[in-house]
Amino acid sequence: MTHADDRSLRETMYRAYVTRASEFDAHTNAKGESLNNADIMGQILQLREQKAKLLGFDNYAEVSLSTKMADNVAEVETFLRSLATQATPAAKQDLAQLQKYAQDYGIEELQAWDSAYIAEKVKQSEFSLSQEEIRPYFPLPKVIGGLFAIVERLYGIKVQEQTAFVSRWHDDVSFYQLFDADDNVLGGFYFDLFARSGKRGGAWMSGFQSRYSYDEKNHQQLPVCFMVGNFTPALDGKPSLLTHDEVLTLFHEFGHGLHHLLTQVTVGDVAGVNGVEWDAVELPSQFMENWAWDAEGIALISSHVETGAPLPKDKLAALLAVKNFQSGMQTLRQIEFALFDLLIHAHTPALDYDGILATLNSVRDDIAIMQTPDYNRFANGFSHIFAGGYAAGYYSYKWAELLSADAFSKFEEEGIFNPVTGKAFRDTILSVGGSFPAKTNFENFRGRSASIDALLRHSGFADTKKGRAAANASTTHGMI
Ligand SMILES: [Zn+2]
Repeated sequence: MTHADDRSLRETMYRAYVTRASEFDAHTNAKGESLNNADIMGQILQLREQKAKLLGFDNYAEVSLSTKMADNVAEVETFLRSLATQATPAAKQDLAQLQKYAQDYGIEELQAWDSAYIAEKVKQSEFSLSQEEIRPYFPLPKVIGGLFAIVERLYGIKVQEQTAFVSRWHDDVSFYQLFDADDNVLGGFYFDLFARSGKRGGAWMSGFQSRYSYDEKNHQQLPVCFMVGNFTPALDGKPSLLTHDEVLTLFHEFGHGLHHLLTQVTVGDVAGVNGVEWDAVELPSQFMENWAWDAEGIALISSHVETGAPLPKDKLAALLAVKNFQSGMQTLRQIEFALFDLLIHAHTPALDYDGILATLNSVRDDIAIMQTPDYNRFANGFSHIFAGGYAAGYYSYKWAELLSADAFSKFEEEGIFNPVTGKAFRDTILSVGGSFPAKTNFENFRGRSASIDALLRHSGFADTKKGRAAANASTTHGMI
């Protein structure tokens, strides 16, 4: 869809993809049964409603939100609709940019099957920056050293590698201990960062043991976790070199790691990331990524493998431009999914297939700025909410972005290495785990409820003239 020059092939592919598991899908499984999910979707919604009633709720959205940071359906709906309003001017500019380029490729009317293809053309001509070009500036040892220096400055902690007396499952694995300012050990973590055959793909943090104390037996257990990645190993005497995306991944997982390690809670179930609301658990991780976008942070984590020079300013500016490329359109798409998910789970009585499609159409009418073909059955393959754990929770992605952007904006105001602000973040968010509601923690840190303004700014929406006006007009209802 991104590179195929044949427009009719793209259309064929698009139609096949967006009609999967619907009444337009002619495929059957090995037993000759239809792959149409229509009835199953209705059944799932009915069963979820039944579960909600058994638990004393009106609908499944209430069940989902009862263990999340957001208070109720109205609050999430207001957040999503408000964000949509503010992203729309930027999205219209994004669309106009695509339409303008489409003309150059002989496309009079931009269709759904053209957008990824044209977006790639715009990217190639407007941003001449590849992740490979960035790689030599981020040797892994430099990035790790810079990352440690950043958290040491922010939180007054020290990180030390520990080689003796620690068993490891592979030579690539290293182990570190974390100390507070008085040299008391706080916990430990393993880095297992390189790809190798047989290893699961992706990157993640997982707890090995939680902070825990059992006073009667005078037993203390310190937190230990794993941070795992799949970076390219060192080769030919050169250190492992990271793309900027991989740098962000490392910062992200380290944010989760600090949440686990800096906890002061000694009840395992609510220590660290345990028991933290689903829509708030990505706050410390996304928050940490901000230092890898900031010029002062970049200066600490980059050093060209041959020249030793930090990443030049123009390359950072280019990275930032690519980051916000088409962010208006992308935001509206995410909101469309999130609002659809919320509304079908908040509806009583449970919707049947026709009701599900009608809801999807009305959400598209409200949110989308580009016409979706009638036959599009996106919902039938929306496995996050029908087969995964995101039911009435898809909004969490944007919600956590709002929290992390707003938390970081306090550092933008007070200095991104301000140790007082760092201590406040550690004390109010990282230390307390799930022992208090995330909303309380956030308000204790920020001194107010979360505001949408920083997210708008970080997404580049505040740069569009209309966007700025809209942002000012709706600051109040953008609060959550
Ligand atoms: Zn994460």
